[in-house]
Amino acid sequence: MHELGLLAEIVDKIEAVAKENNVTEIEKLVLDVGEYSGVVPEYVETSYPAVIGGTMLENTKLQMNIIKGVAFCHSCKKKFDIKGNEQRCPYCGSQECEVVEGGEFIIKEIVAR
Ligand SMILES: [Zn+2]
Repeated sequence: MHELGLLAEIVDKIEAVAKENNVTEIEKLVLDVGEYSGVVPEYVETSYPAVIGGTMLENTKLQMNIIKGVAFCHSCKKKFDIKGNEQRCPYCGSQECEVVEGGEFIIKEIVAR
């Protein structure tokens, strides 16, 4: 379960940014979690209380925005939903595709109290 390590990194980052900006209390943390980021939202949710315990983020709420997977086809230059088209482009059948959305696991917003 690598979610624990990823979350710990995020909490470190937020504490550093908060200090720089003289933010002492945080209300809510918003994360963007891509469907193809390899991160399981349920694990993030269950790891969260353990990771924030004893940090500045203790007692904060966690909100996750699930980002749909979108790929770009290099052959026909079209974008398509990855769901149902995992291996190839639905327009031209090419496998020269790249995930352009849905691979992220990032801090979207930090809401100060
Ligand atoms: Zn294509």
